[in-house]
This record gives sequence, C-alpha cells and structure tokens, in this order.
Amino acid sequence: MSSVVTRTVAFRQDTRNLFVHLLTRCNLRCRHCYINPGQHGTGVMDAEAVHSLLALFASRSFKDGEMAGNSIAASTNLVLLGGEPTLHPDLPRFISFARELGYRSITVDSNGFLFNDFLRKVPPEMVDNLSFSLDGPSPAVNDPIRGKGVFDTVVTNISRAVEMGFPVSVIFTANRLNVRHLPGMVPLLQRLGVTRFFIQVVGLRGRAGEGGETSLQLSREEWDLVVPASARSAAEAGMWVTYPKVFLGQEEEFQCAGVVAENYFVFPNGRVYTCPLCEDYPLHAYEFSQEGLVRRPPITEMELFSLTIPEGCVLNKLLHPGNIEYRRDGSPAFKVACCMLKEELVPEGHPGRSQP
Ligand code: SF4
Ligand code: SF4
Repeated sequence: MSSVVTRTVAFRQDTRNLFVHLLTRCNLRCRHCYINPGQHGTGVMDAEAVHSLLALFASRSFKDGEMAGNSIAASTNLVLLGGEPTLHPDLPRFISFARELGYRSITVDSNGFLFNDFLRKVPPEMVDNLSFSLDGPSPAVNDPIRGKGVFDTVVTNISRAVEMGFPVSVIFTANRLNVRHLPGMVPLLQRLGVTRFFIQVVGLRGRAGEGGETSLQLSREEWDLVVPASARSAAEAGMWVTYPKVFLGQEEEFQCAGVVAENYFVFPNGRVYTCPLCEDYPLHAYEFSQEGLVRRPPITEMELFSLTIPEGCVLNKLLHPGNIEYRRDGSPAFKVACCMLKEELVPEGHPGRSQP
C-alpha cells in the first residue's frame, strides 16, 4: 500500500489551461453529454484555425502583465477534446505542432474508440496523458450510460494503449446510476495498468440539462459517502487521483477561477469561455477568429465572476439554485466551490505532475 499525500490544488497565476473542442461530433450518445450543438454548432475546426490558435496561445498572454517564466507555451497545459477528438483526421498533426511549440503538457480526452488509427499515428511520448472515459467497472453499469458495447471497446483500447507505453488515465463521471459502483473501478484500473484516475461529478449541462436529467445528480450525502473513500483506495493502490472539491466549509476560502486563474474553453464556432458552467449560454468572454482572440463587450461571464455571495460560486447560484441548502436563518449550509477546484491524492513516488 502506497503512502499518499492529499492536497487541494491551488489556482495558479503562472499556469493556464487551454481546452480545445476540435469538433462537437461524437459517435456516442452518453446520457450526461455536456456538448450543446445549439450553442456550439456542429462544425469542425479546420487545420489552419487550430494551428493559428495553438501558435497564438504559445506566444501571448491575455491578462494584464506577463506570465511568470520565460516561455508562455511552457506555462500552458493543452487539452484536446470534442465531441470525440480522434474523429478529427488531423489530430496527430495538432499534437506534434503543439509539442514543437513547447506546451507544458498535452492531454487527449477520448471516449476510448480511438478513431483514425490514433495509437499507431501518435508516438506515446508525444502525449502526457491519454484519457479514456469509463463510467463503470462492468458493461452492466457503464453501457446504460454510455451505450451498448462501449465498455468492451474501451477496456480493449486501454489495454492496447498501456501495452504500447501511453500514459493512460481514466475519467469516471459520478452520477446517481453509477456512484455505488465507484469502488469497483479500483481493482479494474489496477489490473489494466492505469496510473491516473479522474473522478468527475455529473453537471446539468448539454444533454443532461436539456433532458431534465436531474435524476442523475448526486446529493452531497451521496458524494461524501462514496467518493473520498474510493479516491483514497485508488491512491493507495498507486494511482494519482483527482476529484472536484464541490463543497467548501464556511471557514474555507472561496475563489473563482474566472478571477484568479486562466482557463480557456474554445469551441469550433469560435466561442471561447473561461467558465464551463456558462457553456450553455451566449455568455462567452471571447471570440476566436482570423482576427485572433477578441474580448466581447458586456454582459459576459466576466461581469458575473466579481459578484461576491455567501453561497460561493455565483453561476451555481444563478443556474442551479436547487444545489444549495440553507439553514433556518437563511444562511447557506455550505459554500459551493468553483467547479475547477480539485483535490489531489498523490501516491509517494508517482512520476506524474498536476494537469487539468
Ligand atoms: S460525453 Fe463525450 S463521449 Fe459521450 S456523447 Fe458526449 S462527447 Fe461523446
Ligand atoms: S464555476 Fe463558479 S467559481 Fe468557477 S469560474 Fe465559474 S463562476 Fe467562477
């Protein structure tokens, strides 16, 4: 059993995260899909646009003052995602271009189908993290959420990727249908040789929001009962585990990543958000086009970040007031943390480092 360090990952001024949704198309129809074609279209980013985006973020800071360190690219974590990013035939070229530009880390978030012969076209050392989504330790748990036959395909491709030397992680989106099966993920991932485990919580965005899938959402009790203990057991089995903090005690400091950190979520229709909770609304702070990255006039998400409320995250209060519990005197029972605030459990001697 490994000894484990537990820590809250502080927001940092000297690191930023660039999430590029190369396309919104996907071969799956997961029940909790966060993609919203009504807001982000059905287009595909062309190679020229992706190259200019990557070059722009490798060379420029968009906040007042320069980022610490000599190279902006070396301070930027890149996450390539979709839809399903491996459906983009130019994905291997984007990865190698980002490497040349010197990005701090490169992650690919895939649903595990790995189209376009991804494993053969991308050398394992070109990515820092190849992430597979898996929502249960068996077909009986995973497939009702992600689709028939998905479990077997994903597990087969995880094994192939591990065997070929890729740094492989798994993302589990906890919801009411699968949360009690989370402990069963630990022996499965250990057997597969997965070294990083990301636990997410289902949000009411995209398809989950449209379909009124409130039945998928977890209560605080359900989360507390299962997630921290499972995270610890995965870390004791040697995995680096990351999960959202979700709730803060009254004595814990609240910070909004939109104010104190830099995250950019780029969509194929040119919208660029800095907060994922805003993605179902035309509140994006920036637009990306041939002119570069242009700040939009108010009102955008940016004007909302500075509102200080006792409940913590202002977007949560506006969009999901039912998530917040109140005491008899009207004060909130707890603060809702920024959705980007993470807890990490790091086994001693694990070779990885913090990534988004
Ligand atoms: S959650 Fe991901 S894998 Fe599932 S349908 Fe949406 S984009 Fe595809
Ligand atoms: S989730 Fe809430 S706290 Fe985090 S960036 Fe968005 S508005 Fe700010």
